[in-house]
Amino acid sequence: MKFKHGILTIGVTGGIGSGKTTVCKIFEELGAKVIYADELAKNLMTNDENLKRKIIKIFGNEAYIGGKLNRKFIADVIFTDEKKKKELESVVHPAVIKEILSEFKKLAKNKSVNFVIVEAALIFESGFDNELDYVIVVDADEETKIKRVMERDRCSREEVLKRMRSQMDVRKKRELADILLQNDGDIEELRNKVKFLYSLFDKISKSTEVN
Ligand code: ATP
Repeated sequence: MKFKHGILTIGVTGGIGSGKTTVCKIFEELGAKVIYADELAKNLMTNDENLKRKIIKIFGNEAYIGGKLNRKFIADVIFTDEKKKKELESVVHPAVIKEILSEFKKLAKNKSVNFVIVEAALIFESGFDNELDYVIVVDADEETKIKRVMERDRCSREEVLKRMRSQMDVRKKRELADILLQNDGDIEELRNKVKFLYSLFDKISKSTEVN
């Protein structure tokens, strides 16, 4: 089997509170290499001069205070201004994708791991699924997701529902999934499912060596 980037690449996505990060932390515990797109984006928004210029063009000088990203200001603007949110995404996504692809290249070259996982909330929305060999969609029963987020973020049910409604329809994500990881049980159950996937990916990654 041929992989798109010379190494087996797997995306992990899902709606708010589905358990994406929890799944990726378990993959990491098992020894997998995980790239967190959100962290990468924050890093690039702070350190990539080219991207910083584009962000200032969209939001003005207030976007940075003393060279530091003014997160609160940007979050407030995009919360009410859908157009600005789209503009921000249109400059951040390509930069993040470029960085991830360059990481894939390095990992494929130095062969330090058999496969690589990418955690990203917007895999389908950004079209990044085309660059990945498989996409796992993590999901849970809606009520379970609401309760987990309310507890994690100490916020109201209404706030969670509002964030849920602003995301891509979960049914659409489930349809696009190569692998659906249902996270309705406890952490132990989730760990067992992730362990199974880890060994599956390990086997798939080695299947190229036979051919
Ligand atoms: P977001 O998109 O909001 O970042 P996420 O998909 O990354 O969310 P997590 O942060 O991994 O979701 O999980 C949401 C919350 O639910 C966390 O507090 C996590 O500890 C908890 N959680 C996840 N899976 C389980 C589970 N199987 N049992 C109990 N709690 C869980």
